Amino acid sequence: MAHRVTLIPGDGIGPEIVEASLPVIEASGATIEWEFCKAGLEVMEEHGTPLPEAVLASLRRNRVGLKGPLTTPIGKGIRSVNVALRKALELYACLRLCKSYPGVRSRYEGVDIIVVRENTEDLYAGVEFEAGSEQARQIAAMGGDKIRPESAISIKPISAVATHRIVKFAFDYAVANNRKKVTAITKANIMKFTDGLFFQVAGEVAKEYEGKVEYQEALIDAFCMQVVQRPENFDVLVLPNLYGDIVSDLCAGIVGGLGVAPGANIGEGCALFEPVHGSAPKYTGLNRTNPAAFILSAVMMLRYLRETEAADRLERAVAAVIAEGKSVTYDFKPTRDDPSAVGTKEMAAAILAKLQKE
Ligand code: NAD
Repeated sequence: MAHRVTLIPGDGIGPEIVEASLPVIEASGATIEWEFCKAGLEVMEEHGTPLPEAVLASLRRNRVGLKGPLTTPIGKGIRSVNVALRKALELYACLRLCKSYPGVRSRYEGVDIIVVRENTEDLYAGVEFEAGSEQARQIAAMGGDKIRPESAISIKPISAVATHRIVKFAFDYAVANNRKKVTAITKANIMKFTDGLFFQVAGEVAKEYEGKVEYQEALIDAFCMQVVQRPENFDVLVLPNLYGDIVSDLCAGIVGGLGVAPGANIGEGCALFEPVHGSAPKYTGLNRTNPAAFILSAVMMLRYLRETEAADRLERAVAAVIAEGKSVTYDFKPTRDDPSAVGTKEMAAAILAKLQKE
C-alpha cells in the first residue's frame, strides 16, 4: 500500500538535503507518495506567513509528514515556525533517538538512548512577564521576599493531564520497541509542586507497566553527570519540556552530534519527522552538509508506518556508509576542511548504492 506523506523541504540547507535524500528513501522498498508543501522563508513574501494554512491542512489530511529545517525569522510576527507547527497539530511528544553508529567521531560507543520530551507546557509555555511590568510586579508581590520586585518572571505550568499523556507515550514506546527501562527526570527535590507532580503522575503510570518495563526516577543534575559517565545505563528517558530540550542535545552530543540526530514530533494520529539540526544558513547551497540525520528521520517515519523491513534496510545502508568512512561529509572528519570529505549529494548517492547492492 502506498503511504501519502506531506513533505516540507524547509529552507536553508533543507531543499538540497531533501533533493539528495528522496531517491534514497524511495529505494528502501516502501511505496510513498509525497505531497510537497512549501513553508518557511521562501513563502513569507507570497503568503505573508511562513506557515500557510495549506501546509497544516496537508498534515491533518495525511497524518504523517517529513520535514527539512525551517529558519526562525528574527523579529517577524511568528516566534518559531517549528513551534507553531507543533502547537497547531498538538504534537505533544518530541522523540529523539540517540544511537552510536560505528564510524562517527565520538568519545563513546554502544549508546542507544531514546529521549521523550513533553512539548506543550513547562517554561516553554511562553507565559512571561517583562521586568518592571505591572503583572510582573503583582506576581513578585505574591512571592513575598522570595522574588525581587523588579524581576522578569516566567511561569512554569505542569499538569497531570499532559504528564500522564507523555509518560504513557514513553512506556508505550518502550513496550512497542522492546526497551527495558524508562527513567523520568526532573528537579523535584526543589520544585516540589511542578516537578513533584511530574514524578507523582509518572510513578502512577509506571504501575500499569509493572513486570513489563522497569521504572526509575533521576534528578536532572545527577542524571547529567551519570549519563556522561555511563550512557549505557540509560534506555528510554521522559522529561518535561525544558529539561528535555537540553538533555536531547546532550545525548545527541554523546553519540556524535547533529549530523546523525533524527527526531519526530508526535501527537494523537499525527506525526512529523525531522532532523534535529537547523537550516545552517552558512552552508546553504554549498552541497556540504550531512544528509544522514534527515534519512534517519525517514527511518523513524518508516517504523511509525510499520514499514519495518524498509526501515531496517535504509538504516543498515546509512550505517554501512558511515562505518566505511569513505563517502562521508566534513562533519565526520577531524577538521572542517578535510579534503577527503564528500558533499551532500555524494554521501546520499553512496547510501543509495549500498541499498541497491543488498
Ligand atoms: P543549525 O543546526 O542550523 O546549525 C549549527 C551548525 O551545526 C552549523 O553551522 C553546522 O556547522 C552544523 N550542522 C547543522 N546541520 C548540519 C548537517 N546536516 N551536516 C553537517 N553539519 C551540520 O543551528 P543554528 O545555526 O542554531 O540555527 C540556524 C537556523 O535553523 C535558525 O533560524 C534556527 O531557528 C533554525 N532551526 C530550525 C530547526 C528545525 O527546523 N527543527 C532546528 C534547529 C534550528
